Amino acid sequence: MSKRNCPVCGGRQSKAIKQIRMKIPSDYRLPETYGVAACENCGFVYADTSASKEDYDWYYAHCNFYGDDSKDDNSERYEMTEELLERFFQKDSKLLELGAGNGRFEVALKRNGYTDVTGTDPSAESVARLLNEGIRAYAASIYDEVHKEEMGKYDGIFLFEVAEHLLFPGKGVENAAKMLKKDGVFIISVPDYSQIGADKSPVANYFNLEHINYFSEKSLNSLLARFGMERVAQKRYGVDLVQAYRKTGSVGPMEKDTATETAVCEYFGQKREQEERVKALIAELRAAKTELFVWGTGSYVMSLFATTDLGQCNIKGFLDNNKIKQGREMFGLPIYPPSYLKEEGAAVLVCSMLNGECIKEQIEKMHSEVCVFLA
Ligand SMILES: [Zn+2]
Repeated sequence: MSKRNCPVCGGRQSKAIKQIRMKIPSDYRLPETYGVAACENCGFVYADTSASKEDYDWYYAHCNFYGDDSKDDNSERYEMTEELLERFFQKDSKLLELGAGNGRFEVALKRNGYTDVTGTDPSAESVARLLNEGIRAYAASIYDEVHKEEMGKYDGIFLFEVAEHLLFPGKGVENAAKMLKKDGVFIISVPDYSQIGADKSPVANYFNLEHINYFSEKSLNSLLARFGMERVAQKRYGVDLVQAYRKTGSVGPMEKDTATETAVCEYFGQKREQEERVKALIAELRAAKTELFVWGTGSYVMSLFATTDLGQCNIKGFLDNNKIKQGREMFGLPIYPPSYLKEEGAAVLVCSMLNGECIKEQIEKMHSEVCVFLA
């Protein structure tokens, strides 16, 4: 029996694929292990986690933050969806983004002539940013009961890079369906886990603290079909999948997904060699007692603390661009802004999901001599 019901079909039987381990700071309130599992009924692959909705609410409110530009690089989102916007909407269509984060998409919509744009987000800072830009916004969780005045109101609803984080994605999709007009269009983007073998990035960490649903084209269709939505368009950008659905109101069929389990198993196989290399490199740093800063405080670092000697290395502190983390501590060590390197030279071990080249440039500007990438 699974700890968590299948988020796509509600099934309780699943097959274990792999156990994920991380050393997690206690104030995160999330479990240190979870199983990657495939639903016996519909094939959906998901994190069979014991964490509750309250645990995740706490985590997102206190430990991570999407309300500013330091975390979420969504600058291309408008360009990625422009063709779909032109195909499905008018300039005066009523548009809503759920989980607006830093609000860049709303600003881009407005700049491109869309006149009726709303954004919602659980974060008050995110809402304040939108209001400041003259965009209608209010604070809401995707799980909140839909207000009467929001029922059947929108021509278009967007949910970008959110569904993979939701403990109950079905509830979120159900709410979105309620807010759409009949024949309204829902545009959703997720990483497509049936394609992750193609991403050779060394630190792309697909099985982290936050991603707990491993969607594919088929499983997304099955989930949306339950709430009366039928797919009308698809776009792909690397592993990013964007799909558009029309609200028909009639429940559609479930398609069993077998491709994702295969892809995920292959991915874990491919990763093994790299994991061994990283383990050996960290063991060398430990043996040499090299003074170092660890760039990154996210899931990848936490998994390295659980599975390598990183915790026994001579670490002076962490570096992170995410402002909510700077000034805090992790595992008893301080978290500095990267500019701290200007004052304190030392080797830097880069363990960040962000583009390595971008970090390299940032480090070079600060004239730090040594920099080790976990590539
Ligand atoms: Zn299922």
